[in-house]
Amino acid sequence: MTQEQSLVILNQIPFKLNLDEQLENQRLVGKQRLIDEFTGIVKEAETLARPKALFLKLDIADRGEDHITIVEKCLTSRVLSVNLADRQEAYPALATCGTEIDEWANSKTNMLHQFWAKSIANAALGIAIAAIETTLHDRFNIQMTSLMTPGSLIDWPISQQTILFDLFGDAARKIGVSLTDSFLMTPLSTVSCLMFESDTRFFSCQLCPKTDCQSRRAAFEEHLFTEKYALDPNNVADNDIACHN
Ligand code: SF4
Repeated sequence: MTQEQSLVILNQIPFKLNLDEQLENQRLVGKQRLIDEFTGIVKEAETLARPKALFLKLDIADRGEDHITIVEKCLTSRVLSVNLADRQEAYPALATCGTEIDEWANSKTNMLHQFWAKSIANAALGIAIAAIETTLHDRFNIQMTSLMTPGSLIDWPISQQTILFDLFGDAARKIGVSLTDSFLMTPLSTVSCLMFESDTRFFSCQLCPKTDCQSRRAAFEEHLFTEKYALDPNNVADNDIACHN
């Protein structure tokens, strides 16, 4: 199968939010005036948001202690190499809130409304990531996936973002995503990553000691550095970068 043949684009992802969950997240429960305002913003978003995603199913051609190679592209990360040690395939993936909701959020002049709109754009990104996981489950019977994003750990530098985009080729542009010279992506609520089948869920947060992160999804487990990855514990998250783990 060629790279093009292994490409799957998801551009019809339904976008519907759980309002109660959103109100909890925004700590608006019981604040009726704000609830009414926020509900209006959610309704606007639901009419225009078009989250999108793509992924490729590719064989791991080669591997070493601190890298894996896919289609002659070398991804240099000890953590990636260990996490994919028992896998034959990997899934470079790109998920985005979509340009529609991104432009809408940026057009908000009221600061609070813009904050809410950007939170909703992040929720759209979460829906796009979930759509990839569901598709991997439905098409390839993959029960559980994990993902790693370049730049979330020093072990896998953000400059490797360009390798993922080389693999995506023109398909990234087709879902409205572009990569800047400083390795950031637009729209901002976008994630590029390598997905892989896993028996237990891996989060980069497990290897990240950052204490003030609102997005933490798993507890820091310092022992993993030496016990699982044979890494220097100083090999931690780069706190200066935007992390979407
Ligand atoms: S989400 Fe936060 S805790 Fe998790 S890896 Fe990123 S910066 Fe670290």
